[in-house]
Amino acid sequence: MNDLLPGELGGEMAPVETWQHVERTTRELFSRFGYGEIRTPTLEDTALFVRSVGEETDIVGKEMYTFDDKAGRSLSLRPEGTAPAARAYIEHAVSNQEPLTRWYYIGPMFRYERMKTGRYRQFFQIGAEAYGSKEPAQDVEVMDMVVQLLEALGLQDISLNINSLGDEACRPAYQQKLVEHLTAHRAELCEDCQRRLERNPLRVLDCKNEKCQAIARAAPDILQFLCEPCKAHFDEVKRKLDALGVRYVINPQMVRGLDYYTRTTFEFIAAHPALGTASTVGGGGRYDKLVKSLGGPDVPAVGFGLGLDRLTLLLKEGGQQYGAPPDVFIAVADEGSADEAFALASRLRREGLKVEFDTRGGSLRSQMKRADKTRARFTLVLGQAERESGKAQLKPMAGGEPIPVALGEVAQAVRAAAAPR
Ligand code: ATP
Ligand code: MG
Repeated sequence: MNDLLPGELGGEMAPVETWQHVERTTRELFSRFGYGEIRTPTLEDTALFVRSVGEETDIVGKEMYTFDDKAGRSLSLRPEGTAPAARAYIEHAVSNQEPLTRWYYIGPMFRYERMKTGRYRQFFQIGAEAYGSKEPAQDVEVMDMVVQLLEALGLQDISLNINSLGDEACRPAYQQKLVEHLTAHRAELCEDCQRRLERNPLRVLDCKNEKCQAIARAAPDILQFLCEPCKAHFDEVKRKLDALGVRYVINPQMVRGLDYYTRTTFEFIAAHPALGTASTVGGGGRYDKLVKSLGGPDVPAVGFGLGLDRLTLLLKEGGQQYGAPPDVFIAVADEGSADEAFALASRLRREGLKVEFDTRGGSLRSQMKRADKTRARFTLVLGQAERESGKAQLKPMAGGEPIPVALGEVAQAVRAAAAPR
């Protein structure tokens, strides 16, 4: 679990300004798509995840932080956001109030994993959920939203992989063929996959073990088994992605690490080596049976989860820096000017400038050193002469002529100097 710190203090993690930039960009963009924010608790009943994510998944089987509270209830730190959102959707009887609901969330998730770059025990997800539309356009809308977010962040070389897992009509026949194939290679499968073969054979396709992956690659292709309605749905998803000009790769091996998916699944995979084996920045899909299986109405849904940690690492790797430098550093030339300089700093902050002021006082030299460090655009030195004349100099720290300014008009002068020429 990481501390996120401002500026250069954070070590391997991206500075908090980068996180804030991604969060701001997300909120702004998602609201343009008509998605409202939800904030659900960090803790849920353990049973929620067992019933939705699935007992045989890595997440529930190995990665959850689970404990009993003082009343003996089993609780878990949420490992993902879709099940909590569905729980809230059911609990607030949202489907009785509106036929189509679109939500997003940004928050911490917890998984007991082996820590490496881009893989942490507390990590953050940006996620979205759309309830009430079974139409391919809804699948495409949520994918488009991710595509536009990555674009807005300036992230390139991230490819969209899509697949369809079929539904309860066609998946059983596929599953049977898959089991036949896997059974033939049973002895070569890892221990986990030998168990998965019994309980949840599709999970084998998701195994990270190389031998299992080789066997998975030779497995029958799920897309060949789709029933007519599932095939039509998938074709329409592809057609609409084409219509929006969204590029994608069809990847029939991709099943995703959770049990609740039906039909469309997708992943966004970064080509960048910065993430190592943690190259998937996000994924999602359709889960038309999830709400009902949790005791809610029969409402179709589709959504995704993106790894905020991984997005910020990619931005950091790209050398981008966020967070504006201070507009002006107010320096005190003599003891008698301290109060007035402090008041000037306060007033300029009220007027909207980003102002640095060293409350420790000290020599003018040490203050100027500090001004340099903060990378302020201007310095203004306030001393007896300035107080008496009501005028001062705005000194551009990058060099150039000082700008004379009346003490009552500093904010205007800084803004005018900031305006593009
Ligand atoms: P992976 O295959 O990398 O383990 P996953 O399939 O377990 O990913 P999802 O459950 O689909 O991941 O979560 C969506 C996104 O959340 C991932 O693509 C990733 O960006 C991020 N994510 C998942 N687990 C972690 C983690 N432990 N640390 C950081 N980010 C994570
Ligand atoms: Mg995982």
